[in-house]
Amino acid sequence: MPHSEPSPADQPEGAGFLSQFGKSEESTEWHSPAPAGYLRGKTKFVVVIGTVMSGLGKGIFASSLAKLIKDKGLSVSPIKMEGYLNIDSGTLNPYRHGEVFVLADGCETDMDLGTYERILGQELTRKNFITAGQVYTEVLERERRGGYLGRDVQMIPHVTGLVKMRLRELAMTGNNGNQVDVVFVEVGGTAGDYENGFYIEALRELAFEEGPESTCFVALTYILEPSILGEQKSKAAQLGIKRLMEAGIQPHIVACRAKNPVTEKVMEKIAMFSNVPLKRIFSMHDRESVYAIPEEMRAAGLDREILSILNLHDRTNPAKEDTARVAWLDFSRRIFATRRHQIELGISGKYAALRDAYASIDKAIEHCSVHLSCDVRVRWIDTSDLMDDAQAARALDGVQAVIVPGGFGQRGVEGKIRCAKWARVNKVPFLGICLGFQVAVIEFGRNVLGLAGANSTEFEPNCAHPMISELPDQKKLEGIMGGTMRLGTQQVLLEPGSLASFLYGGKLEMRERFRHRYEVEPSYIEQLHEAGLRFSGRHPKFPIMQLLELPQSMHPYFVGGQFHPELTSRPLAPNPMFMGLVAAAIASREPEFAATELGRRWVRGAAKPVAAH
Ligand code: GLN
Repeated sequence: MPHSEPSPADQPEGAGFLSQFGKSEESTEWHSPAPAGYLRGKTKFVVVIGTVMSGLGKGIFASSLAKLIKDKGLSVSPIKMEGYLNIDSGTLNPYRHGEVFVLADGCETDMDLGTYERILGQELTRKNFITAGQVYTEVLERERRGGYLGRDVQMIPHVTGLVKMRLRELAMTGNNGNQVDVVFVEVGGTAGDYENGFYIEALRELAFEEGPESTCFVALTYILEPSILGEQKSKAAQLGIKRLMEAGIQPHIVACRAKNPVTEKVMEKIAMFSNVPLKRIFSMHDRESVYAIPEEMRAAGLDREILSILNLHDRTNPAKEDTARVAWLDFSRRIFATRRHQIELGISGKYAALRDAYASIDKAIEHCSVHLSCDVRVRWIDTSDLMDDAQAARALDGVQAVIVPGGFGQRGVEGKIRCAKWARVNKVPFLGICLGFQVAVIEFGRNVLGLAGANSTEFEPNCAHPMISELPDQKKLEGIMGGTMRLGTQQVLLEPGSLASFLYGGKLEMRERFRHRYEVEPSYIEQLHEAGLRFSGRHPKFPIMQLLELPQSMHPYFVGGQFHPELTSRPLAPNPMFMGLVAAAIASREPEFAATELGRRWVRGAAKPVAAH
């Protein structure tokens, strides 16, 4: 043996689990690890697998379903299984894959995790995200430690065993050490893909091991409606579902994505070819809004079928469901209500052609637009094209608010600096996010402090004024390794009486999520302060500037966060930085808005004069 004594982590896990079958790890061909204390049958699994094609909105489907079940008083936890070999989404190009979503614990994930957090209103962790890269790495590292007790290490049972282990570990993350009632599994890609085959096999094994009524397989499929035929065709869906059945998985439910409501004839065909009763075939045709989906699912009875398949009716709490439903319905109805106000907002970014790259910003704006009854028209501006101030002014002409979002790399940065300048000089409400925050500092340094050559060392390592810099010594204090980013939730202390504190409801501290490598160079802080740019949000211990603002005497709403406020915005709890931006934009067009109840809450300076009346 290459090692002396196995560490606890190397012990054959789940002896307890196998003992439920009267087996031990050494005496069986099964490799079915489970964490200590895991109770089989306590946690149920709903598995959503796509067929026919990707891009069907599996994440929205699975999260809406999870929400419906959660609203009934059950605890839920979703997991997204990615087939790619990356360890996480940190190095993925947002132009190809959509934005990188950062969780509170710093895990960089697929943008679908954002959908889950928003729809479920629940914070997720790295346990809710798994990639093929993570699975293989863990198996190979364990093999090197001698953790497989001399056996040859195989896709089945060892790789699949690890997947089952991860699912059971996730099941253990309920409140107070309780097991979660339902784990929702979303398998990336579609049935038949080469790279997700081991996940599908692991889930087949899981269903077998967990026993009857433990696992509900949902095949999400697509019904074609070729325009030349003018009718729906089920063949692609049939073939897709067959792929799943070839892998040994009999779906319990078939959900049919389609442009139009799926006809009875097509549903009958699918039922007939898939052995799924007609009442468990559902039409999930396009809706006007994703927020309507949970209620549509409920109306169609999808939730009841899941509860029956998993024998969960006894765990529901109808009173809780009513409250949660009313709050969500109120929001989803207001999406379509006529809006009282209207503004246009410019987003000065690099991936302006691809909305997915800024998905959470788009959603955060949507949340505010509902809460403030404001029709927010978004103008996407590609800052790579803005070669001088006049071009920036033309691109932004007519907008009432500007967002400069986060980003990496030099392209488009000068254009972003010009947009920040335009917003500052013209007193147009401005929100800088991460790179946008850094850009606001550079702009102020160059144009107000007169520091020619002010820049970030990310773009110009030897610039005359490195106002934004990597600061390795500072990072060391925080325990961040060289070259890596500050990731995840951090505490932010807010200055009393500041705009920031006003936005966060008078609080003097809050928490937001970060993803950046560079920060404000502390030696410039004093000069900036004297000239008006205040860092009203700081790290509790180190001189890390986390939030900036201009005083009311200089600008109605000029704020920036080194963090990403869009990541924590939820439909029922919009992020304050965005609420303040949109409210300030409304007030710039309609001064009387400041005197309304919403205006008093969200427009700075509105509170006092109005209260005096
Ligand atoms: N590129 C900048 C940094 O690394 C900003 C990062 C971001 O906007 N997410 O600090």
